[in-house]
Amino acid sequence: MSSPSKACVIGSGPNGLAAAIVLAAAGLQVDVLEAESIPGGAARTLPLTLPGYLHDFGSAVHPLGVGSPFFSTLPLQRHGLEWIHSPAPLAHPLDNGTAVILERNLADTQRSFGVDGQAWGHLMRPFVERWSDFIPEALRAVPMIPQHPFLMARFGLHAISSARALTSRFRSERTRALFAGLAAHSFLALTEPLTGAFGMLLAIAAHAVGWPVPRGGSQSLTNALCAHLASLGAGLKTSARVESLAELSSYNLILCDITPRQLLQIADHHFSAGYERELAKFQYGPGAFKVDYALAQPIPWKASECLRAATVHLGGTFEEIAAAEAAMTQGKHPQRPFVLLAQPSLFDPSRAPKDKHIAWAYCHVPNGSSFDMLPRLEDQIERFAPGFRDCVLARNVFPPSALESMDGNLVGGDISGGAMGMSQVFFRPTWRQYSTSAKNIYICSASTPPGGGVHGMCGYHAARKALANLSSWQG
Ligand SMILES: Cc1cc2nc3c(=O)[nH]c(=O)nc-3n(C[C@H](O)[C@H](O)[C@H](O)COP(=O)(O)OP(=O)(O)OC[C@H]3O[C@@H](n4cnc5c(N)ncnc54)[C@H](O)[C@@H]3O)c2cc1C
Repeated sequence: MSSPSKACVIGSGPNGLAAAIVLAAAGLQVDVLEAESIPGGAARTLPLTLPGYLHDFGSAVHPLGVGSPFFSTLPLQRHGLEWIHSPAPLAHPLDNGTAVILERNLADTQRSFGVDGQAWGHLMRPFVERWSDFIPEALRAVPMIPQHPFLMARFGLHAISSARALTSRFRSERTRALFAGLAAHSFLALTEPLTGAFGMLLAIAAHAVGWPVPRGGSQSLTNALCAHLASLGAGLKTSARVESLAELSSYNLILCDITPRQLLQIADHHFSAGYERELAKFQYGPGAFKVDYALAQPIPWKASECLRAATVHLGGTFEEIAAAEAAMTQGKHPQRPFVLLAQPSLFDPSRAPKDKHIAWAYCHVPNGSSFDMLPRLEDQIERFAPGFRDCVLARNVFPPSALESMDGNLVGGDISGGAMGMSQVFFRPTWRQYSTSAKNIYICSASTPPGGGVHGMCGYHAARKALANLSSWQG
């Protein structure tokens, strides 16, 4: 057998770049082939509205980026990455003109949560205090024997619950509303098991490492990863879509930062029929309907404390958010969708001309939906910020099909690389996880554990698995 020292990574999203870095650092000769003209996948920053306004095409806020066990080991600051923290990670406005604020400091949050302060602390503190033990375990394929079994058992006991069950411990509607917004990042109905885990993970991250934005947008993270990769001697070719695995016969190892449907399209008989059948069963999750705004001024929130947070969740009470998410998972388009909004230019003036601003907002829709959610999404912003529409200088709308046309991994607008429900969250895309039926081909995208989000851990684990297997062939 020839020496398996040449590796190709298909796709330059955060997971593709992470995989390429692991392989290059291990001494392999690595080429990354990217279909689009700019690397980064769903972590790119683009001029989508007016000159001088820089918008995050996909990811905007990066709790799992700053907290990533792998990214934290890389010299990304040396390559220009600077994390900016808003004074509070998250604001959740309510109809009475106030907002629930998730403070960075756990004790401050407990104080502001009043009757629920103690319950919040009891739930989050063990994991906040042991973040560096907790997060590597939370962001990996479920291990047979966790390194911190008691900590992870404690997390599992809470996290397996639905958000609805978990919030029964809170007495205030305000705390329940905030937790609903956190758990709704799962794209699941809030009665589903594991939605509690999403809410807890994001809250724990807010207290442990914050929810920062990269100065200049998510492209700065991508550029830092690319610069580090180049320093390891790897190559990256853009506008280089791989149409068939047959094109890559000169490589001994192939890592695919793509989703199962795309892998099947380029498979060219490289996989067993059984494996192809398993891949074809992979379920995609709901889609996102996304809008980017150029704004004449900051958003005129009724609750001015919303100006302290880079991220704002718009959806009102727990019951409203639960109803919106339940409707969406049943293929409907809620009248009052749950909207996730980021306002990075309040904290990073490089994103817009002087005194002007940007905003990024999306809501959840059924996969592949072509329904125009723009009026409903903007009604939700207006509900908590009357006069918002008057501040809009320009907007760019990305329905699910437009997201997919910009990044083939966003199948039907699914931003998580596949549904994150119980049946797929641990063993994705198949029981083989990163491996395929071909011994030199691996999947390393968000369609593998631990799933969606900019953390690079899918790429890291896939590359480590590939390297371990490589040494066993060579040995
Ligand atoms: C609207 C939106 C908002 C989001 N918000 C956040 C957020 O705030 N925080 C967060 O952490 N995460 C967020 N995410 C999720 C996060 O961006 C993704 O989970 C993450 O980018 C997945 O990384 P990946 O490397 O698996 O795939 P991607 O980032 O999708 O990268 C895949 C790459 O592969 C390339 N590719 C595909 N097919 C081929 C081919 N045949 N040949 C060559 N190249 C190919 C694509 O062009 C793309 O560059 C968001 C995503 C979207 C779309």
